[in-house]
Amino acid sequence: REVSGRDVDVMVIGAGQAGLSAGYFLQRAGFAPETGYLLLDAGGGPGGAWRDRWPTLRLGGVHGIHDLPGLALGEPDPDRPAAEVVADYFGAYERKFDLPVRRPVNVIEVRDRADGRLTVRTDAGEWTARALINATGTWRHPFWPYYPGQWSFAGRQLHTADYRGPAEFAGRRVVVVGGGTSAVQLLDEIAEVAEATRWVTRRPPVFNDGDFTEERGRAAVARVDETVRAGRPPSSVVGVTGLVWTPQTRRMEAAGLLNRLPMFARITPGGVVWPDGSSFDADVIFWCTGFRAVLDHLAPLKLRAPGGGILMDGTRVVTDDRVHLIGYGPSASTIGANRAGRDAVREIRRLLDAAPATLG
Ligand code: FAD
Repeated sequence: REVSGRDVDVMVIGAGQAGLSAGYFLQRAGFAPETGYLLLDAGGGPGGAWRDRWPTLRLGGVHGIHDLPGLALGEPDPDRPAAEVVADYFGAYERKFDLPVRRPVNVIEVRDRADGRLTVRTDAGEWTARALINATGTWRHPFWPYYPGQWSFAGRQLHTADYRGPAEFAGRRVVVVGGGTSAVQLLDEIAEVAEATRWVTRRPPVFNDGDFTEERGRAAVARVDETVRAGRPPSSVVGVTGLVWTPQTRRMEAAGLLNRLPMFARITPGGVVWPDGSSFDADVIFWCTGFRAVLDHLAPLKLRAPGGGILMDGTRVVTDDRVHLIGYGPSASTIGANRAGRDAVREIRRLLDAAPATLG
């Protein structure tokens, strides 16, 4: 079989934290840029999903960005938006290691080919690969729960992924839905300018005392790992680490902002109504309800187990050892993504070394 300029050994889809980490380890494992490995990324520039996060997000307000392997982030200006800081950092990283990233390239689907290679179909043509590292994150798949009456609501509904800052909430009555860190932080920003806010979560929120420790992180990762090894859809690892008492959340508590309400039963044109009949007139419902893994482009590979998730062993898909998912499930954090990149490359190196290239 002729090898064309569009055949690579390992294709990496996505060049966020996870994809760049994979690129770094692929290079270290001796894969040649372009022919040995290639990264395809849908973004308009470096930064992964961070480049699309809201302009008021600062790195000081997140759990913490772990350094990519081989280049430290350093001490960025705390007043610059996280979107800019991370885009600069990832851009410098790509240049330092000369990583072959093609963008903007949107992968539409990945299919099996008769000879055992994978066909990667994109809006910039087709490639083939012997193995695949999928690192497409979650940002492009916001999760919207459904509540009765939702589409009758006369006001505005938006998701965290749509948030561009508090200005549009000025003088509005806002319901913030969701129990994660984003919900709490955005509630704080919005409450400064809104006429009134209500915070609504499915389960009573649990705030942890003290800093986020490594032990707490490990416990959260272990819980999500167990889920994906059983073939169930993963919960968010950043989500299961829980909320933390910080000067910000203590201030919010003192101001009465954290008087959480349970989920409402239905949505009306003018607001939300709880099971006991109480209600809140709202102009805006803000769904800070998280994200799901971006995997639609892998549907033709039929990786899903009956439980709706993908049966995983570490980063490897159990039913198709050519395919690794990183930044998925237990590795969906910046530190997890780094390690997952390394682990996936190690296994793929072994797989490809064991199978001559002519066998696909
Ligand atoms: P992403 O950064 O999402 O990168 C995926 C890349 O894949 C993107 O560039 C995208 O364009 C590309 N892509 C997607 N689909 C396709 C396709 N079909 N074809 C081609 N390219 C595609 N984690 C932490 O550890 N610490 C934190 O403080 C933290 N804060 C967070 C705050 C928010 C608001 C959110 C939503 C998440 C946060 N996380 C945090 C989790 C965070 O998303 C991950 O840790 C990590 O940044 C994800 O990296 P990634 O490489 O997996 O995905």
